[in-house]
Amino acid sequence: MRDSANTRILDAGEASAIEQAAAKIREGGVVAFPTETVYGLGADTFNKEAVCRIYEIKKRPSFDPLIVHVCSPDEAIRLWCEIPSVALTLMKKFWPGPLTLVLPKNPSVPDLVTAGLGTVAVRMPKNPVALELIRKSGTPIAAPSANRFGGVSPTTAQAVYEDLKDGPDFILDGGPAVIGLESTVLKIEKNLGVLLRPGGVAVEELENFLRVRTASRSAKMPESPGQLKSHYATQTPLCLLDRPLGHTLDELEKFRGGRPAGRYPRIGLLSFGSPTDPDGLFHAAEELSAKKSLREAAAKLFQVMRKLDKMGLDLILATPVPERGIGLAIMDRLRKASSINNLMGFLSGWK
Ligand code: AMP
Ligand code: MG
Repeated sequence: MRDSANTRILDAGEASAIEQAAAKIREGGVVAFPTETVYGLGADTFNKEAVCRIYEIKKRPSFDPLIVHVCSPDEAIRLWCEIPSVALTLMKKFWPGPLTLVLPKNPSVPDLVTAGLGTVAVRMPKNPVALELIRKSGTPIAAPSANRFGGVSPTTAQAVYEDLKDGPDFILDGGPAVIGLESTVLKIEKNLGVLLRPGGVAVEELENFLRVRTASRSAKMPESPGQLKSHYATQTPLCLLDRPLGHTLDELEKFRGGRPAGRYPRIGLLSFGSPTDPDGLFHAAEELSAKKSLREAAAKLFQVMRKLDKMGLDLILATPVPERGIGLAIMDRLRKASSINNLMGFLSGWK
């Protein structure tokens, strides 16, 4: 990874790197930085021109609001205008960490950041580089994930560079993201939590503190723009299986048998546990976690999706993971990345 014409790579471990990045934020620049969830593309929340550049670089539609990153609960409290006691309890329990809280905004928060909504989403990250960057910038940092809109989120500085080279002023390299999936986004309404996006904090954990309902997806306008159906998508068509691989192996075998030699598609398998491919049906196979740990699978998911996406495959086939704990967030990302509902239908139309 080398500096490009307009983007400098800074190693967060080097003295003064974080200070340089913070100075850039203060002067209205845009900096990609590590968090424990994924890399963010950040700017001063109160600088509208800088925030505008985030939307431009990402090619993000202006109806999709940003999460504001703070370095202390007090800084968050200044961004909201109504804070129920359950929000304070959640902040105490889960901050710093991958929980974003959505509450009515203070009028000082620009509409551009919230896409015109009356609420603002705020989170205090746990990654020490992110915290120091926010502290040294002296302002909350508005930041979506540092990738092109709709694509796979970046969990390394390299992935940011591949997507956005020449976009941000700096990319602050702080190593791979530990959690690897975005934060849980929770809107607080009185003492009820509305789950807008599953993520790094499991819903089961939140339910110890308040009742959580999932935001309805049936409404014409979703409660949160991040609930768009297609997101996190690879360029290669991806199909998420709704059952274990066994049956599909038989179907693929039969399909291959009925095709002329050499006319079988290049299929990559994205498998939760160790992949099984006794008949050589897959061109490539990647596992998320040999020991079937959901945490490990979450940390590897986006990295493995990017790896498979670069192999020139015709199709990525993903196996489901159990929908508990962070597994709910993994399945949410896989469903949104999945562009093919009917595997055999897709294959029969394949030339
Ligand atoms: P990203 O930072 O790209 O992972 O996306 C942030 C997501 O947070 C958005 O797509 C929305 O789903 C959600 N979000 C941010 N602000 C709000 C808000 N004020 N109300 C509802 N959802 C929000
Ligand atoms: Mg994103």
